[in-house]
Amino acid sequence: MALSSGAKLASAGQLPGQSAGKTSSGEEKDFSNVMAIAAHPGDAFFAMGAPVAVATHAGGQGSLLSLSLGERGSPKMSAEQYGAGQREAAEKAAAAIGAKALFLTYPDGEIPVTEEAKFAVCDVIRQYKPSTIVTHWKGSWHKDHRACYDIVDDAIFYAGLPALVRKDPAHGVRKLFFADNWEDATGFAADTYLDITAVCEGWLNACGAFPMWRGETGFRYNDYYGSMAVARGCLSNFKRAVALMSPEEQRVERVRAL
Ligand SMILES: [Zn+2]
Repeated sequence: MALSSGAKLASAGQLPGQSAGKTSSGEEKDFSNVMAIAAHPGDAFFAMGAPVAVATHAGGQGSLLSLSLGERGSPKMSAEQYGAGQREAAEKAAAAIGAKALFLTYPDGEIPVTEEAKFAVCDVIRQYKPSTIVTHWKGSWHKDHRACYDIVDDAIFYAGLPALVRKDPAHGVRKLFFADNWEDATGFAADTYLDITAVCEGWLNACGAFPMWRGETGFRYNDYYGSMAVARGCLSNFKRAVALMSPEEQRVERVRAL
């Protein structure tokens, strides 16, 4: 499993088809236990599911936490009925990639940025101990996505504080990445490309558990995320890839003099 840090991908002098950034291993970058945390199950699987599949494919652990069931996403079905279908689809898709589907059932469209929500996510992080978390970038038009960004930011902080006593002991998350999501595109700048060649087909098939994947609610998720995997692969010199964005503080590198 390889990972390409693409900060210099567009630099002058780069040969076509060759990555100018350095390539490191997925192990080195902590893709052994990956948790996706999303506002809605569709986001967790479509925009964040591939890195989770990378972890489970390599014998590690993967989980996908949805803060709501996305139950208000259907123009035709009742929230109760649609939510039940979303839960079922998430469980089926998670099983297909060897991961766990987890839920906190805040109301779709009204995910609250509260201490209660932050502690609830903190508790899930402490229970599953992910090395890496993938979540929403804040540059989103969707209020639930922005809420998720804020909740996760503080939940990671709370999870790592030993003096903050909860049911499980403190757990330090090593890496945080923001996912490439068509709804969170404002200011999204990819700096990391993850090789998903080995898991791409299985992940795309797993997403098919959701009826909305095929455009039932208006957006053609399958075409979008399927072709993005190809396009991001072209940019990173992997056959298939997803783009990720690091928080600013994670982009700092320490270089020792020779
Ligand atoms: Zn969403």
